[in-house]
Parts: sequence; C-alpha cells; structure tokens
Amino acid sequence: TDPKRIRNFSIIAHIDHGKSTLADRILELTGLVADRDKRDQYLDRMDLERERGITIKAQTVRIPFTAADGQEYILNLIDTPGHVDFSYEVSRSLAACEGALLVVDATQGVEAQTLANVFLALDNDLEIIPVLNKIDLPSAEPERILQEIEEAIGLDCSEALMVSAKTGDGVPEVLERILRDVPPPAGAKEAPLKALIFDSWYDPYQGVVVLFRILDGFMNDGQRIQMFSSKKEFEITQLGMFAPEPQRVNYLGPGEVGFLFASIKDLTDARVGDTITAASNPTATPFPDFKKIQPMVFCGLYPSEPSQYEPLKKSLERLQLNDAAFNFDPETSQALGFGFRCGFLGLLHMEIIQERLEREFQAQLIATAPSVAYQVTTIDGATFTIDNPSELPAREQIEEIAEPYVRMEIHVPNEYVGSVLTLCEEKRGIQKDMRYMTSSRVIITYELPFAEIVFDFFDRLKSVTRGFASMDYEVIGFFPADLVKLDILINGEPMDAMSTIAHRDKAYHRGRALALKLKRTIPRQLFEVIIQAAIGNKIVAKERNAPLRKNVTAKCYGGDITRKRKLLEKQKEGKRRMKQMGNVEIPQEAFMAALSLD
Ligand code: GDP
Ligand code: MG
Repeated sequence: TDPKRIRNFSIIAHIDHGKSTLADRILELTGLVADRDKRDQYLDRMDLERERGITIKAQTVRIPFTAADGQEYILNLIDTPGHVDFSYEVSRSLAACEGALLVVDATQGVEAQTLANVFLALDNDLEIIPVLNKIDLPSAEPERILQEIEEAIGLDCSEALMVSAKTGDGVPEVLERILRDVPPPAGAKEAPLKALIFDSWYDPYQGVVVLFRILDGFMNDGQRIQMFSSKKEFEITQLGMFAPEPQRVNYLGPGEVGFLFASIKDLTDARVGDTITAASNPTATPFPDFKKIQPMVFCGLYPSEPSQYEPLKKSLERLQLNDAAFNFDPETSQALGFGFRCGFLGLLHMEIIQERLEREFQAQLIATAPSVAYQVTTIDGATFTIDNPSELPAREQIEEIAEPYVRMEIHVPNEYVGSVLTLCEEKRGIQKDMRYMTSSRVIITYELPFAEIVFDFFDRLKSVTRGFASMDYEVIGFFPADLVKLDILINGEPMDAMSTIAHRDKAYHRGRALALKLKRTIPRQLFEVIIQAAIGNKIVAKERNAPLRKNVTAKCYGGDITRKRKLLEKQKEGKRRMKQMGNVEIPQEAFMAALSLD
C-alpha cells in the first residue's frame, strides 16, 4: 500500500469513557466485522477482559476504508489498555501511531487517565483529535466539557467531534477526520528495514508472535531479520496482518502494521520496544530504548496441596510467556511450604494474574497479602532490596529502611476536596500542589508511600468521593521511613506468610486490628486458638478463639439427603482453600486480612 493511503491511529480515553465501544462501531461501519461475528468489544479478546470490561493487552486491526472522495485507505487501529497498571502498554502502542482519538465522556469530562494518556500521546508527537462521546445521554454537557478540555489540556476544540459510540451517531465523521488530520506515515522504502516491536506474546502452537510497525524499508515472508538489541537473527516463517482475523501476506511496506512468526522460542528475544532490522543490511539508527518494566507489587502464591507445586510452576511459566511484566521466583515459607514470590505492576495486574491462573490452569492457590519492595541498608553498609517482609533482617542489623513513593494526581469535584485531603494525610501523604482545573473541579497532587496505596486506598478514595474521583500515579523513588516489621503468631508459632511492614506510628494499631480480624476469619477449632501480633519481641495484641464443643456437629444429622450432600460438597470446596498450619486450619481469607482492616 502507498504510505499516503495509510493512517495509523490509537484511541485513548479514561476508563469507561467508551473507547472499546467506539472501536466496535468503527469495525462495523467499515464492514469489517460480519454480523454473525458481532459481539460487544470485539478487540477485547480474552474472556476475562470482556467480563471485567477492561482492555488488558493492546490489540490491533487493519481496516480497509473507502472515503467519501472515493479513494481507498488503510486504517490501522491500535487499541490500548486503559488502566494505570498498564500504562507501559499504552506508551509502546502509541509509538507505533501518527495520531490518536481522544475520547472524553460528555457526561464526565477530563479525568486523571485522560490527562495521563494525552501526555503520552504528546510525548510521541501524535496528532490528537478530540471526540466527545455519549452525547445520546440526557446528562451530556458538551459545551462545558469542551471548555474543560481546552482549559485542562490546551487542545483546540473548535472542531471537536460529537459522537455516540452506542448508537453510531457521528462515527462516519470520525473516520473522515482521521484521514484529514492524522499524517500519513513518512517512511522510506529504500532505507534499511527499521520496524518497532510494540507487542509480543507466546502462542502455544506457533511460538512467539511479534506485532510490529514498519518505519523504513519493507519485509518479505521468509526474509532473515535481526533483533537490534541482541543481534540475534531469525527467519520469518509467517508474515501477516489482522484483518481482523490473522491473514497471511508476502510483503509489508513502510508505515504498515503487521505480525510475524520466526521460530522465536523465548519472549525475551522479541522484547517490546526493540527494533527489527534486516540481517543483510541492518539499520544504523534503532528506536530509542523503552523503559524497562519493573514490578512494584509482590505476593506469595502457594499451592494448597504440596503435590500441586510442579503444575503451579508450569502454569506460572506459561503465564510469564504471555506477560513480560509478570515475574516469579521460588520461595519457601515456614508456614506455607514451597511456593513462589511473584511480582506485578500493580494490584489490578496481580488480581488478573491470579484469576487467570485459577481459570486457565485450574490451580488452587493460597495467596499472601501484597507488599511493596523495600530498600534495606544494614549497619555494615550493605544495601539490598527485599520484596517479602519476612526477609527483613533483625532490628539490630538495620541502619535504614527506604520505601517506594508515588506522585499521585487526583481529580475531584471541589465538594470532595476536604475528604480527599483527610484521606491522603491519613495515608502519610505530602501535599505538593492543588489547583482548580475549572471552577468546580480540582486537581490535587500528593506524594504518598506506595505501601499505603496497596492497602485499601482506592476503595477508600472511591467511597469518600462517591466514585467521583479519578487518579493517576507514577513511582518517583525510594525514601527512608521509620518502618518496623509486624509479625503474627498462631498458638505461639510465627506465621511468616502473614508478616507485614508498617510505619512505627501505625504498627501498634495495625497489629491490634489485624489480630482481631484474624480472630474473625479463622474458624473455631476443637481446641483453643491464640492469635498474637508482635513488633520485635513485644506482643502488641492477643486474641483468643474458644474451642468448639463437639456436639455442635450433631446439627447435621437428619434432614434431606441432597441438601446434605450439597452442604458437604460446599464444605469440600471451602476446605481446598484452607491451609493446615500445624493443627490449625487457616482459610485463604486470613492471609488477605491485612488488606482491609477498617
Ligand atoms: P472503555 O473502558 O473506554 O473501553 O469503555 P467501554 O467502551 O467499555 O464503555 C463503557 C460503558 O459505556 C459501556 O457500558 C458502554 O456500553 C457505555 N457507552 C460507551 N459509549 C456510549 C455512548 O455513546 N452512549 C452511551 N449511552 N453509553 C456508552
Ligand atoms: Mg475498553
């Protein structure tokens, strides 16, 4: 295809503003998705994504389009995820585009992720086209929202598009506008091959699938390519594009977006952000290196039965093939036995991985409460990072503990400012800025310890603002703090998997709340169970579960047999999620108790 007839674009939006719905309408309008294949959110391929209504992995589709002027064009739509945990996926997808549709919900306005995505788009020099969505809703306020976009972003909105992705109103105009305003790709066919990897994943049958965008040069099926960073060479075994189903082609030229297989076994050989070039004539100017992705949230994952250790390991390995941002290492817990320490980008990423494990691999898991990484300096001068609170050295050994901080922007209607400030102060935040975006909406900037966010921050923010706040954050580094380890003992036995690190001012209160919560989540047994919280050698809380009297089980006798069987089955189900600690049965819930103490 002649590059002049190609447009590569993305859709960016705050979550729920209608990005996936707009993509669906575009596919329908261009006749790309036949009626029988029609289903909501076509680009959200994974079942999990559809159920949760979020987009996890970026997807791409090539759309042939006949414009009003009768000319044939190719539109490459590169879908991006909308959640803050996945902003690295957004940035690499945007680097493959020349333009972006900025979708803003006309009933909501500019939110934290709207701004964050706009900045990523500006970083990549994209042409940004403002699109006001949901104008079919009676509560839409297009005039006010347009003004908000102009003020908050400084984007000219005089030609902003008004659409309803739901009814399809205004969507044809969106396509024409893309043709008019998004610049065609500027690559040279004669130059050495230079293509950007913006996504890659593992396919169990074909090996690694690489999604790329050609900047200069061209690619032929069967050609030898070189990964610029490693200089490793591969032979293309299949070249193709998504139309929207995978379709094989022999050739792709400058500006085109496609996929390739090349018998690549290891996802690390097709690193996102890397440059693909020709083995025979490599380019001298690769794309600048992308940010390396660092896991920020860690938890232990343990099989509920020791015999499931190997299957769990296999499952984790397979998941990692598909998700370069997820990592894991074997670890041993006194309480839980052999398992794995896993690293994630954020809490949502963690939840998704755990759900996928249980769904796709039928693994029965015990997960420990999430934690952040800490930087520890010992009195003999060594500095290292720990990602498990139980690894913290003895108190006498420690010179300093530093914890990760984030800079967070919270967007909120002004009547909730007070509640947000109170929450951030309670979470040890340091206020950095507060300004009015419009007369009724405020942007509050705080620096906060990341650990405080991991524990219930988002739920609290949502509840104190009745869901009207939105936020975005980035990690800014490690800073020293007065931190101590809080241990849990059950019948005198330390439960290493329940240890947490807390700020000294809060540790005492936390210990008491945690002991109480555990008393409530650990079922009564036939003997007494003592639950204690300790800081160092000092016991700060003690709770007791009295023994059950044996005849309580007598209740089960008699009655309808099917009901009883159901009850038994349910019990069995629950049991699998228990962990036997010595002679105490501890349910999965108890390991998560630290997450919701208030
Ligand atoms: P995304 O998170 O940006 O991908 O948002 P979705 O496309 O999943 O849309 C979020 C919700 O808004 C869904 O329930 C959609 O049905 C709804 N929605 C999207 N566009 C419109 C629209 O134009 N009008 C109305 N009334 N609802 C819409
Ligand atoms: Mg979506």
